[in-house]
Amino acid sequence: MLIFAAHLFSGLIDPELKNRLMANKHLQLIKKIKAAAQDLPRMHMVLVTTALALVFFALLLPSGQVQANLRSMPIIGTDIDLNPQMALTGLTTTSLNEPTLNVGASQAPEDTWQELTVRKGDNLAKLFDRAGLSATDMNDVLQSGPEAKSLTHIFPGQKVAFQLDKNGQLQALRYDESQLKSTHYNRDENSFVAEKISREPEVRHQLASGHITSSFYKSGLDAGLSDAMILQLAEVFGGEIDFVLDLRPSDQFVVLYDQYYLDGKKVGNGPILAASFTNQGDTHSAFRYVYANGEVGYFSADGVSMRKTFMRAPLDFIRISSPFSLSRVHPLFNTARPHRGIDYAAPTGTPVYAAGDGRVLQSAFSDSMGNYVVVQHNGTYSTKYLHLSKRTVKAGDRVKQHQVIGAVGSTGWATGPHLHYEFLVNGVHTNPAKIAGKLPQAERIASSEQRRFGDQVHALQNQFAAYANESKLARQDATSSDNQHKSL
Ligand SMILES: [Zn+2]
Repeated sequence: MLIFAAHLFSGLIDPELKNRLMANKHLQLIKKIKAAAQDLPRMHMVLVTTALALVFFALLLPSGQVQANLRSMPIIGTDIDLNPQMALTGLTTTSLNEPTLNVGASQAPEDTWQELTVRKGDNLAKLFDRAGLSATDMNDVLQSGPEAKSLTHIFPGQKVAFQLDKNGQLQALRYDESQLKSTHYNRDENSFVAEKISREPEVRHQLASGHITSSFYKSGLDAGLSDAMILQLAEVFGGEIDFVLDLRPSDQFVVLYDQYYLDGKKVGNGPILAASFTNQGDTHSAFRYVYANGEVGYFSADGVSMRKTFMRAPLDFIRISSPFSLSRVHPLFNTARPHRGIDYAAPTGTPVYAAGDGRVLQSAFSDSMGNYVVVQHNGTYSTKYLHLSKRTVKAGDRVKQHQVIGAVGSTGWATGPHLHYEFLVNGVHTNPAKIAGKLPQAERIASSEQRRFGDQVHALQNQFAAYANESKLARQDATSSDNQHKSL
């Protein structure tokens, strides 16, 4: 938000673009307000609070932790943000717990619940210790039955609450695996009885859209998307768009996704249902498809998988603050020597991925290339990654697309940290952007799934269009919300 404002006043953006950016900001807001339909100011507050909380937590979490969370996120998640390890923790309030179990002034002191949040390095014994309870108490709970096994696999961000009586004896324990899944252990004489409690969230559709201003990541946050969703969006389109080098200030995205609510409060995000990304005038669209067997994939409307044989930018670009001025050939490298690759300026340590499935042909060091890795994808294609600060694969290893093979560095003949990436066809250096049409075709939806696919995608297309249309109409009577927008 700040960055957006800074851009508006910096004079770096031409007036027409400014207007478009402003209009777009209004558009996003209006869409959300429209979606809320009634109770406009309250919904607005909820949205603003949610967005701020997300930004706040993205900033607050140590970067390593954010990274780890993002790494562990499957591209096709159905309850991404319900994982308590995600930044969502910031949105959790005690009011989301079982109402009857809340710590509250209304409860008698002898029934006080003590709620502990699992920290990094915690185990159950440490939590019992912090609650002032003994190992015997812990064993009593653990012996309550097979459910108790989950207590030995607690994760940071989850909550464990203890209810003690006036003598300090443990009466009950509550373990919140997520906001939707808890187990209660209630004392029954000298043992505990486990009871699983699960809650079904209410699912609402949400549309978010944005223009790329300073970086895709920042624009995503501004549009109200979580870290995990921005990454998911980038992965969906990562086979078609080079998110480091191809982005332009006129680029825009629209995303339709699920949000989960409990008791009227948002508790997390569901998967992306449909999305479009307009890059340099080309609009790429993707729709979520659930196969008959329950598996999930993203496809274009005509049934081609979004998962391509090669990803375009083989590095973790999300946190690279990619300015549009970044030229295809980095100024570090003048024309003194032939340059036959693509350079991605990125901080040392940025994870580098295998662009596609294959086998590591070389993982070695040379004076000029520094630490480098060569991956053979099949008889025709190979990829090279140079100047790495470290290599995490060795010759002969099988690698999967998106698997980390090393990290950006400046080893060898490099005057600054960057990834030099080469794409070779039959041993000849090639610009992958120029031969996109000749690359191996992505998987198509199987004929046995075609009818099902048609039904699902058609429904999503209609929804997507309806939302987009609604937001266009909203845009026309946008003036009424100007003040609210400014209050952002
Ligand atoms: Zn280079």
